[in-house]
Amino acid sequence: MIARKRFGQHFLDSTQVITDTISAINPGPSDHVVEIGPGRGALTEALYGRSKQLTLIEIDRDLVPGLRQRFPGAALHNQDVLEMDFASLGPKPLRVVGNLPYNISTPLLMHLMAFESGITDMHFMLQKEVAERITAVPGNKAWGRLSVLLQYYCKTEWLFDVAPECFRPPPAVWSAVIRLQPRHLDKAAVDLVALDQVLKAIFGQRRKQLGNTLKTLLPLETWHARGVTIDFTARAESVTLPTFVALANALTRNDANS
Ligand code: SAM
Repeated sequence: MIARKRFGQHFLDSTQVITDTISAINPGPSDHVVEIGPGRGALTEALYGRSKQLTLIEIDRDLVPGLRQRFPGAALHNQDVLEMDFASLGPKPLRVVGNLPYNISTPLLMHLMAFESGITDMHFMLQKEVAERITAVPGNKAWGRLSVLLQYYCKTEWLFDVAPECFRPPPAVWSAVIRLQPRHLDKAAVDLVALDQVLKAIFGQRRKQLGNTLKTLLPLETWHARGVTIDFTARAESVTLPTFVALANALTRNDANS
């Protein structure tokens, strides 16, 4: 069977990588594991033997008969994961895993954040460059909008690199396995629309000094009046997550004096 490019199909073909990924996930018998894009079942095989409740989400209908036959006890959804209502899979907290289709990994991660309150953790194999952005720290070239948004919701952790030769067909780039653990924060802590507005402004012009980008949202004296005390000559790369949250909160504050 030919791998479908449009579905980002690169099938795992390395026993070592499968073993390392499963041992990082460490699925337990009482876990509800949800696998995104099981494909030909490289990871599914090991998950099926270890968790009593396994849900598979696979878009490619040609792969469905094989998956049904090999994993009859798993719940199989033949659909686009971007349209999956993960809340409907509960109420038990989910452990979400997958060797993700790289072409949709960023929108998929953002889609999952809407359901983070029902998720215990996530283990994903994805393009190394995207993994770098997700796990970046301030001061790092990869620190950007994706890092801040995902780290607002989750603790992120780099686990290991995976070489292109570990897949059939091999992708053009290196991959990495990461772990995301939702913090289950109080949603009222920040206005997410405001946070994204701040992130787009600051990272949209990442080489500019903060004062120059922030004044496109509010006059600098208003930022001051609202208690923002950051160095306006600093640049995007050095701004930490708590500062972004403070900026978003200042942006949404409406007081008579400012
Ligand atoms: N888990 C398998 C493995 O490791 O060998 C396959 C991984 S392959 C990189 C990605 C899988 O996700 C493919 O099986 C592909 O058909 C599936 N897929 C791609 N886009 C999808 C989508 N939007 N929704 C659900 N599954 C998707």
